[in-house]
Amino acid sequence: MAGLDGGRLNIAASALGAAQAALDATLAYMGERKAFGQTLDQFQALQFRLADAEIELQAARVFLRQAAWKLDQGAADATRHCAMAKKFVTDAAFRVANDCLQLHGGYGYLADYGIEKIVRDLRVHQILEGTNEIMRLIVARDMLKARG
Ligand SMILES: Cc1cc2nc3c(=O)[nH]c(=O)nc-3n(C[C@H](O)[C@H](O)[C@H](O)COP(=O)(O)OP(=O)(O)OC[C@H]3O[C@@H](n4cnc5c(N)ncnc54)[C@H](O)[C@@H]3O)c2cc1C
Repeated sequence: MAGLDGGRLNIAASALGAAQAALDATLAYMGERKAFGQTLDQFQALQFRLADAEIELQAARVFLRQAAWKLDQGAADATRHCAMAKKFVTDAAFRVANDCLQLHGGYGYLADYGIEKIVRDLRVHQILEGTNEIMRLIVARDMLKARG
């Protein structure tokens, strides 16, 4: 069971990297694609979506690093933090990648741009190495145990 802590960090890190790749590709694409006479990156509504994605990934990165640090230190609450990080990061990564697909419009759904593959790959990270429901179970049980 203890070995799963590191595995969960690994899954979260993989998800984070893939979501970052999707966001990088989306940022570039939005500077090229024109609609209604301007590039996509000039629409303020879409700029907000980029900002939300960046904020989510940065929050996920900090949270993941903290969990990894706790595992390295052998902290008493490392298992709880690894479960929290796995749940939070894989959910955030999927949301961001899915939004990146949307921002590519119809091309996002085609294999040519690689985004749909990232979305499919990230979907399983919410299931692998213990589902995200089980991550919540681990966190809640630890909270109840700590309360006594
Ligand atoms: C591509 C892929 C690769 C995999 N690789 C490996 C591997 O290398 N090694 C390995 O050991 N396993 C591997 N797995 C298995 C994976 O870990 C399991 O699929 C995962 O843990 C979920 O178990 P399950 O499929 O039996 O779902 P189930 O246990 O049948 O769960 C079904 C649903 O019920 C929910 N659920 C179940 N129990 C509870 C509960 N107590 N409270 C709340 N909700 C609950 C689950 O979250 C899920 O939503 C792999 C799976 C996939 C899809």
